[in-house]
Amino acid sequence: MRTVNILGATGSVGTSTLDLVERAPEAFRVRALTANCDVTRLAAAAIRTNAELAVVADERCLGELRAALAGTGIAATGGAAAVCEAAANGADWTMGAIVGCAGLRPTLAAIEQGGTVVLANKEPLVSAGAIITAAATQHGATLLPADSEHNAIFQCLDPAQIARVRRIILTASGGPFRDWSLEAMAAVTPAQAVAHPNWSMGAKISVDSATMMNKGLELIEAAALFPVRPDQIEIVIHRQSVIHSMVDYVDGSMLAQLGPSDMRVPIAHCLAWPDRMATPMAPLDLVKLGRLDFEEPDSERFSALSLARSAVDAGGARPAILNASNEVAVAAFLAGAIGFLEIAAIVDDTLQRYDPAAPETLDAVLHVDGEARRMAGERVKDCVA
Ligand code: NDP
Repeated sequence: MRTVNILGATGSVGTSTLDLVERAPEAFRVRALTANCDVTRLAAAAIRTNAELAVVADERCLGELRAALAGTGIAATGGAAAVCEAAANGADWTMGAIVGCAGLRPTLAAIEQGGTVVLANKEPLVSAGAIITAAATQHGATLLPADSEHNAIFQCLDPAQIARVRRIILTASGGPFRDWSLEAMAAVTPAQAVAHPNWSMGAKISVDSATMMNKGLELIEAAALFPVRPDQIEIVIHRQSVIHSMVDYVDGSMLAQLGPSDMRVPIAHCLAWPDRMATPMAPLDLVKLGRLDFEEPDSERFSALSLARSAVDAGGARPAILNASNEVAVAAFLAGAIGFLEIAAIVDDTLQRYDPAAPETLDAVLHVDGEARRMAGERVKDCVA
């Protein structure tokens, strides 16, 4: 029996994690579930799983949460600090599925307990990858990647043969606009951007997939998680999203992980690791699938890819600035304040205007993050004016 925390339990990854945990009540006991403010989903999940604690990051929602859990015996807390406290409760296994850099402190709080911390939440790894991996080493925590590409690499990469790795190849679906002209992309609406052809995901990552910033963030995430140089990480468009990523060894062997486009596959890998567990997904039907296609990404139409590549090459504060300005721009796009192509333009502008020294501490990263958000916010206001 393993004790489990799910940070971001009401989101797309959180819900997939709950689905697997609830199918195996003999194997998992839920300790804490957290959300931002979706009290209805959070309370329902806490009651279904008989969790010990439910937490809302937005303190204004605590009263509603308490009312929803009245008489259940499930404790309720609220506020960003309460999310960190819940993450630090010493559970054996924690899923980090908060969206954005808001997950950074809770992720570190979980890591400091020394258990298994599963990272779906990629933005903290982009902004503070070195701090997160150093904390895991210091506290003896096991980091497992749930992002499907990184989980695939984790499955294909033999740590004893790192020196024999030629390339890591991240696959990308290309998103809903992979065949669109720039002119057409200029008029994309939020509803079109969140309709991903292969995956069902939260709004922010869906927009990131549409701009291909998601693949840029994943490039930086891979450089943080795996001991390879950024120039060893390549991106290839693979429309079917069946191969989730590959490792190319010097002898010409290329190992790939294949699976259905359902996050429950990599999450199940992390839940059972180093064992395996059954999932409800049907096995891949290769004959029905018929073919697998690969193309080069177009970094002219998807400039986010070049911005991320430059940021990972330069290192220092660049990835944190890229991530923070992207979070602001995506939120503004989803709110209808800016156009689709303005997302990458705002990230580019923020990177050009802000070039601080490399942040070495968590506080320094958070300062860079805050400053980049402020500057990107100014650009959003210019676009609206
Ligand atoms: P969702 O938007 O579906 O869910 C986000 C979760 O985070 C919700 O539980 C939300 O609560 C909570 N949350 C939002 N803001 C805050 C905050 N300020 N403090 C604490 N909690 C907060 O996102 P996804 O599940 O799609 O993605 C989660 C993370 O996983 C992202 O980093 C994404 O890039 C990554 N990821 C997602 C994949 C997917 O298939 N969805 C695949 C691979 C990686 P509430 O519901 O109350 O708003």
